[in-house]
Amino acid sequence: MSNLQLTNSLTRKKEIFKPNNLKKISLYACGPTVYDKPHVGNARTLVVFDVLFRVLKVLYNSNVTYVRNITDVDDKIIEASQKNNKDIDEITKDVIKIFHENCKSLNCLKPTVEPKATEHINEMIEMTLSLIKKGFAYENKNHVYFAVNTFKDYGKLSNKNLDELKSGNRIEISDLKKNPMDFVLWKPSKEKDPGWKSPWGRGRPGWHLECSAMSEKYLGKNLDIHGGGLDLIFPHHENEIAQSCCNNNTKNFANYWVHNGFVTINKEKMSKSLGNIISITDAVKKYSGQVVRLALLSAHYSQPLDWNDKLLSSQRATIEKWYQLYEKSSEEISLKEIDILLDDLNTPGFIAKIHEFFTNANKGDEKSKKLFNSACKLIGLFDLTKKEWEELKKVNKNISDDFIEKKIKERSIAKQKGDYKLADRIRDELVSNGVIIEDKKGKTTWKFK
Ligand code: AMP
Ligand code: ZN
Repeated sequence: MSNLQLTNSLTRKKEIFKPNNLKKISLYACGPTVYDKPHVGNARTLVVFDVLFRVLKVLYNSNVTYVRNITDVDDKIIEASQKNNKDIDEITKDVIKIFHENCKSLNCLKPTVEPKATEHINEMIEMTLSLIKKGFAYENKNHVYFAVNTFKDYGKLSNKNLDELKSGNRIEISDLKKNPMDFVLWKPSKEKDPGWKSPWGRGRPGWHLECSAMSEKYLGKNLDIHGGGLDLIFPHHENEIAQSCCNNNTKNFANYWVHNGFVTINKEKMSKSLGNIISITDAVKKYSGQVVRLALLSAHYSQPLDWNDKLLSSQRATIEKWYQLYEKSSEEISLKEIDILLDDLNTPGFIAKIHEFFTNANKGDEKSKKLFNSACKLIGLFDLTKKEWEELKKVNKNISDDFIEKKIKERSIAKQKGDYKLADRIRDELVSNGVIIEDKKGKTTWKFK
């Protein structure tokens, strides 16, 4: 095969990837909104697009520009600042730091550019002015809205017409809008909230506008690939398309739209609003970055991935086994060997192939050993040397959820019996293993430090 194929959300078909310019492949993935610690669901997007970036680099001799933005102005950040009584700058700075540490532990390559929204406000104001001038947007009381009925392709990515979108989604109600589906490009800021001077008064940009303005600045008016998690198709990506296509008078904003499925817990999407998140930091602490990475690649990117201890333990066993054979290699894998991966980034198929190389290498086949090493390297595994891995294992005692819960039960029995000494001893034991427990309303919860 040796042609990359991707499932394009725009056509809902698997298509052969044909770049605009072989010398400059463009990839844009929506990055985090930095209001809270990133979770394992966010990590999936990071790792999936990191693998795509690595594959594109192999295919196109590194002529790839990968842009992943940081949304550092947003209502969620303002809310977090009020809730935690913490400065906005402090929140975004702290979360960006954690995010970068997380990317490093997951062994994600640095994107070519990582633009911050707050550093591109001028570009956003320019784009808004231009959309108003061309008749696609209107101002009302210091707000600027995009008029969705001016764009005939609105809904094409989500495969729905305006009425279906309206009934199926929570739409922000406002008397200021001409159509309830119109979305905000610019809105006024309260005095204490972040804001910038603009022709419509002091205010801030809408989230969708941020990505349209930043992607154009670094990648031009027609991108090869634009990606993100499945939840971004509507409204975020639909609105990015509307803004960019109308402003640039183009038919396509991105030629290929790639969306990853959700990480779930007990079949429910991992999300802050459901309160079922596991932070990347905690997952990495418990299992190590490469075990988390392998787990995230164990299912096809388009499918849901259920996060549980069984999955993680089995990935850990694989990494442990593979470390016995792995040797750092400078050898690149040949295109023939990555056929499976080129077929819509089939990582589970590719991992099965690595298992096969492993088995044959253990039977003494030197070629399989080389392939094993270079295949692992291609998908970003084994950033730690064997020695570093052994050291990490010593630090990380790998205590299981079962063990922790057993200890919590023992502690609560001890407390019921009035044996507070024993209860404290159990608590200390957990703390020394990096586990913090908290008693609230008769219930004990735990988390890693
Ligand atoms: P956010 O910081 O919420 O804007 O999300 C950053 C990225 O993570 C986006 O591409 C989301 O689509 C993605 N994402 C959020 N939750 C999940 C999840 N549970 N599974 C997979 N991807 C997710
Ligand atoms: Zn975006």
